Amino acid sequence: MEKRSCMLLGAVLLSAASLFAGGASEAPKAESAQSTGAVKTKVTYPVPTKDGAFPLPITSKPTEFTIFLNFNNMPFDSSWPVWQEMAKRTGISLKSVISKSNSNEKEAFNLMLSSGKLADVIGYVSATDLEKLGHDGGLLPLNDLIRQYAPHIQWYLDNDKKFANTAYSLDGNIYYVPKNQTLKFSEFWWIRKDWLDKLGLQTPTTVDELHDVLLAFRNGDPNGNGKKDEVPLFDRAGNKMPDEYLWLWDSSTEFYVRDGKVEFEPLGANFETAVTNLRKWYEEGILDPEFFTRGPKGRDILMTANLGGCTHDWVSAGNYNTKLQNEYPGLEMVAFAPPADQHGVVKERTERFPGVGWGISTQCKDPVTLIKFFDYCFTPEGQELLNWGIEGLTYTKDADGTKHFMDNVLNSELTPVGYLRSLGCLYRVGCCQDANYEIAVASPAAQAAARLYESHPEWYLSEEPPYADGRLDMKLRPEDDAQYKKVMSTIRPYVDEKFQSWILGTSDFKSDYPAFVKELKSRGIDDAIAIVQRGYEAYTHR
Ligand code: CA
Repeated sequence: MEKRSCMLLGAVLLSAASLFAGGASEAPKAESAQSTGAVKTKVTYPVPTKDGAFPLPITSKPTEFTIFLNFNNMPFDSSWPVWQEMAKRTGISLKSVISKSNSNEKEAFNLMLSSGKLADVIGYVSATDLEKLGHDGGLLPLNDLIRQYAPHIQWYLDNDKKFANTAYSLDGNIYYVPKNQTLKFSEFWWIRKDWLDKLGLQTPTTVDELHDVLLAFRNGDPNGNGKKDEVPLFDRAGNKMPDEYLWLWDSSTEFYVRDGKVEFEPLGANFETAVTNLRKWYEEGILDPEFFTRGPKGRDILMTANLGGCTHDWVSAGNYNTKLQNEYPGLEMVAFAPPADQHGVVKERTERFPGVGWGISTQCKDPVTLIKFFDYCFTPEGQELLNWGIEGLTYTKDADGTKHFMDNVLNSELTPVGYLRSLGCLYRVGCCQDANYEIAVASPAAQAAARLYESHPEWYLSEEPPYADGRLDMKLRPEDDAQYKKVMSTIRPYVDEKFQSWILGTSDFKSDYPAFVKELKSRGIDDAIAIVQRGYEAYTHR
């Protein structure tokens, strides 16, 4: 899944905004309105301190802490203007212990651990490894420090369940402050609106209507070249993500929680419906014939050849509307609601979750000052710096507080996100990723997608545990984790192989299925289900 993850990471940063569409009463409030083609979205963050003020500077005498952080092959750089500004305001500066040339995060992390000399601040790509460092005594439990000295972080722990569930490890300690997400959605269903119009079709609202529309795409020559060459349904993750299709019938090749019970979905009734239909769709030419080999460039290949009709993907799927307008005038990808499944339920399974941030090592001499600095990153001022950069340099502010990026950001050769990053914004630290900066750089199609999905929180399962990339992402106890990996390393390839053979028709699903279920049992699927169930209960009953 690694390639997919990298790709998604890139896409996250170009996404448009939704703002805690679910828990409106607890979350930062969002107001959005559309005017003259631009979306204005304003987020107001809570001010949990009693008098609403954050005492600055944090230290009267400039204080320096060491930091280990290497995000996207960019080691932390204290000369970044945003962090210089933070140092100026707070009195606290951070000095990287990674040389600028060392871009291998894992190697540098292991090197630091084996040296026995830990930086004061430590962030790392893997939550499991960070928590392990905590269990092993390398990171401080932050619970008490936060309670006493970090009211902004505490507010999120008390009011944002997803944030809290990410922050607490299974032993009840907090070893790192997460990077929070103010966005709810991640991916959308996309369809060629101009093809619908050309064939006189309505946007499909159910999986059966989707079938009929896609069959019409296949047979009706909507690209107008006189050939039956359209690829109605495609996905750029190829064989790694059969789930994107299985979701249409509320199934997957993964674990899933229903009514508090963990299921392995290939054992469920929906899976039979899904595979039977997908096989039919494949035979009818609805499903990409190169489904299993297309790979991550698939979307670009099919869109630039004017062949692709419908997909489930990030906001970047809307970029073709402008990119390909000269070649294919009228080309229009629009986001549409997830089609209702065979039971009439509309559901979107992809969603954003908070990620890893940073922790404080047990070798740090002054953790109190440091946790105050961590807290500063969650203040409105800190969030503005980390998301928007510096007023007058990267953005301007209207009288009502609405911010606008300046031309040097919007027209940067590095892309807006790349440029902001080069100044130290949007780094992987404990903070809140602000939806507003994302919407400020989004395309019209992306903004429309954002508005549609944002206005339907009921499509999302807010109480569900995190699904990273559509895969259940639970924290497991180390002994459980080892057993889980042992079992699933033989099950996953088996499921993938069988699934492929059923879709391609090299073996018959109906006659295979009883033996398939038996084989899953003999490979220990019940063990794995029990382990994931324990992880789920620890998550929900912490
Ligand atoms: Ca054609």
